[in-house]
Amino acid sequence: MFNKKLNADFIKKRLSPIDFYRHELLNAALKKHSWNDGGLCPFHSDNNPGSFRVNLTTGAYKCFSCGIVGGDIIAFVMAVYGLQFVEALAKLADDWGLI
Ligand SMILES: [Zn+2]
Repeated sequence: MFNKKLNADFIKKRLSPIDFYRHELLNAALKKHSWNDGGLCPFHSDNNPGSFRVNLTTGAYKCFSCGIVGGDIIAFVMAVYGLQFVEALAKLADDWGLI
């Protein structure tokens, strides 16, 4: 589905990183601001919590074990679901009812 309203700013204004990551990272005890322990890393076979961090202000994420890094929730969706940028926007809009 193509919709010209569907751009990164539109998504980020309507979906906060904290709501998004609370949905994606069910094993993490996420608080409010800045960098949090994201629980088990979704990008590698992780059995040692503490390496994966998410920033609930910006949506950035980083794993100190496998080295994956990204700047926002759109980058996270692209990486974890193997999507292109526009596909990631469409998934977020659909999943969260943003359109
Ligand atoms: Zn990792």
